[in-house]
Parts: sequence; C-alpha cells; structure tokens
Amino acid sequence: MAIVWPCSTAVDAYAAAGRDVEVPKAACPACSAPMGSWSGYFRFVRHDGAVHRVFIPRGICPPCSTTHALLPAFCLRNRLDSTETIGGVIEAVASAGGVRPAARRHDVPHTTARGWVRLFAARAQRVAVAFAALGVELGGEVEKPPRDLLRAALGAIAAAYDAATALPGWIRIGRWRFVAVVCGGSLLSANTNSPWLIVGTRRFMPPVP
Ligand SMILES: [Zn+2]
Repeated sequence: MAIVWPCSTAVDAYAAAGRDVEVPKAACPACSAPMGSWSGYFRFVRHDGAVHRVFIPRGICPPCSTTHALLPAFCLRNRLDSTETIGGVIEAVASAGGVRPAARRHDVPHTTARGWVRLFAARAQRVAVAFAALGVELGGEVEKPPRDLLRAALGAIAAAYDAATALPGWIRIGRWRFVAVVCGGSLLSANTNSPWLIVGTRRFMPPVP
C-alpha cells in the first residue's frame, strides 16, 4: 500500500536530496503500529516541464510484516505528472474551459490532460461529497454547492483546505498536495486506499471519495 505524507518540499529540492530525503515517521495504515525504515525505490515525476528522479522510501510494519511506500504529496500513484500539474489542469479547465489551452499552459500532451479531466469529472460527485464532509469535520463553513459537478468538487476541496490550514499544527502544503494526502494519492483512480490526514496530533479519516 502507498501512504501519501504531507510533504511541503519543492519537487526539485526533494529530487536533489536523493536517498537522503527526510520523511516523518509514519504509522501502519492497517494496524496503526509505528513503522520502521525499509529501503525504498526511485521513480520519476514530471513537474513544470522537467522530469525528476525522486526517491520513495518504504516503511515496514513488523506486526503486519508488510512494507508501505511513503509517497511525498506531489506524487500520485501510477501517474508520471505531479499532483500540482494534474490539479492545475483540472482547475484551469473548470474555470476557463478548453483542455487545449490548459494543457499547453502546463506543458502536457492534450490527450493526457483530457484523460485527467474525464477521470476527475467521473468522480466529481463523490469528491464533492467527501471533501464537503471533511471540511465540516475540520470546522469549515457549510456552503451550497454549485450545480456544475466539477466546480462543486473544486469548491469543496478549496473549503476543506481552507478549514485545514486554519487549524493549528497544519503545515501549508498547497491545495493539491492536500488533496493527494486525503485521497491516498489516487485522486484519479477507481480504487482508493484508506485515506489518512493528520492535523497536529489528530487523525481524521474522511469518507473515501
Ligand atoms: Zn501494521
């Protein structure tokens, strides 16, 4: 299983650290036992038009005898492009329409961008409901969602992020990294792992979008 942790480091700085990236101690997503370090692997991530090679450490849970990849929040599972790139394209399409200009601005192929928007749109209702619930749990305001599902999902994400950043102990990681943490790195995938989100010392388990 992959765990996405709220990394605030810039992608190039993270890549430059190589194997020496500092990752906070994580708890096992299955049994909550503290995990130890267990090697890791390199993968690629495309961000701002450049491809970076980044180290993904693994944690090991002794009681479960299982290892878990510790993904920084700028990585989504099974996606080459960074969380911010994918989120930026979705936001641009929702606000201005037109996949082509959004793809051009973010330096990604048009067909790739179109695929992201379709996948996100297909899950928009579940995302809207889950993030609206999370926003309320985090102490945010309840707002009437717009009819447009894509905008409703983005509005709920923005409201939940604002509520999270208003709480003490939450580090500002940017809205889309926040989304990756909540969704366990699988915003565009059909299957989601147990999402987890820690604000200060409190652990939230939002509904799976
Ligand atoms: Zn475990």
